[in-house]
Amino acid sequence: MQILVLNSGSSSIKYRLFDADRGGDTPTLTERATGTIERIGETASRTTSRIHRDGDVEELVDEQRVTDHADGFATLVATLEGAGVLTELVAIGHRVVHGGEEFVAPTVIDERVVERIRAQIPLAPLHNPANLTGIEVATALRPDVPQVAVFDTAFHATLPTRAYRYAIDDEVAQTHGIRRYGFHGTSHAYVARRAADHLGRDDLGLVTLHLGNGASAAAIDAGHSIDTSMGLSPLEGLVMGSRSGDIDPAVIFHLVRQAGMGLDEVDELLNRRSGLLGLCGDNDLRVIEERAEQGDQAAASALDVYAYRIRKYVGAYAAALGRLDAVVFTAGVGENSPTMRARVVEGLGLLGVSLAPDRNLAADVRTTPDGVVALHPDDAPVAVLAIATDEEREIATQSLTAIGA
Ligand code: AMP
Repeated sequence: MQILVLNSGSSSIKYRLFDADRGGDTPTLTERATGTIERIGETASRTTSRIHRDGDVEELVDEQRVTDHADGFATLVATLEGAGVLTELVAIGHRVVHGGEEFVAPTVIDERVVERIRAQIPLAPLHNPANLTGIEVATALRPDVPQVAVFDTAFHATLPTRAYRYAIDDEVAQTHGIRRYGFHGTSHAYVARRAADHLGRDDLGLVTLHLGNGASAAAIDAGHSIDTSMGLSPLEGLVMGSRSGDIDPAVIFHLVRQAGMGLDEVDELLNRRSGLLGLCGDNDLRVIEERAEQGDQAAASALDVYAYRIRKYVGAYAAALGRLDAVVFTAGVGENSPTMRARVVEGLGLLGVSLAPDRNLAADVRTTPDGVVALHPDDAPVAVLAIATDEEREIATQSLTAIGA
């Protein structure tokens, strides 16, 4: 059987097709194809696919214009059918960013579910509309296949009240659904499980650090999320590529009242012109690390602010957990930047967190067969792991569970 995973953005669709064997308790997933359709609706679109066949990878590139998401989905199905790899599709799994309070588990989609996801749009106006479009076009073209929504927020549904509540007027909070939801749930769930497998224990107290373009930390107690840094939206918490993370909410009032900025302008400032980009003018950590190495002060300061924020969260989450068995680094920065990992860990010695410098430098998670590399010294009380995240694989696994496969 096969499962297709779709991540629909406003002008792109990313997809992965997995073969799932029915062998053991949990199906083993093997990637069959992966690809991206970019610049949907623009004059020049680009569809790239990598098809696995008999141990080889065939790369296909198509520059034909893709007019809208429906055209995009039809293009990707035609590509997969043309390549002869779409044979026995049993489900399509969709990444949906915000599930609100209602969706706390992967959910098989019907008309009511579509309406309820639509109702969450005010909570995630930047993401949910595109996710919903993906669901609608896939349902229209393949009504024969069950569609499953997997929510970024769902893994954090286990947050206790003390972690999810903001200390604001209760009636306002209840009426408008103002609370911490948390995001990147599929990634935190996936790497937490990999850490538990690697360390051979399922009772771990973990801090997982998803450090990509978006970034978040989670405190995970025996596989359950008990706190996380993103909040009502993905804007809160760590410093990100272009998002500010934590700031005093009064900064917004100040900018509106004193600087005469409109609310949309402040929204754009905090979501698109802040974070690393705001601090030093670049949002790619590789570039910033290079600049800092060449003596650029703004770049060096941006790295310092970025690492310090993460370090504070590790300390806070160790306190929230009351113990700490492992710190997990994942996503673009966490998997690939030994220097950033070293900056974060510096000063965490009081929690028993340390790195073996040679292991940290040599770590290459993507070429390690199980995608897990231990970075700590052999005698360290706390494990430090770099783990290759795989959100689409997690969505595929959860979708198969949801349809009972
Ligand atoms: P993601 O959103 O997980 O794809 O992560 C994207 C970010 O990872 C990019 O903006 C880069 O800053 C960062 N990144 C990727 N590779 C490296 C690397 N080798 N060193 C430092 N940062 C990296």
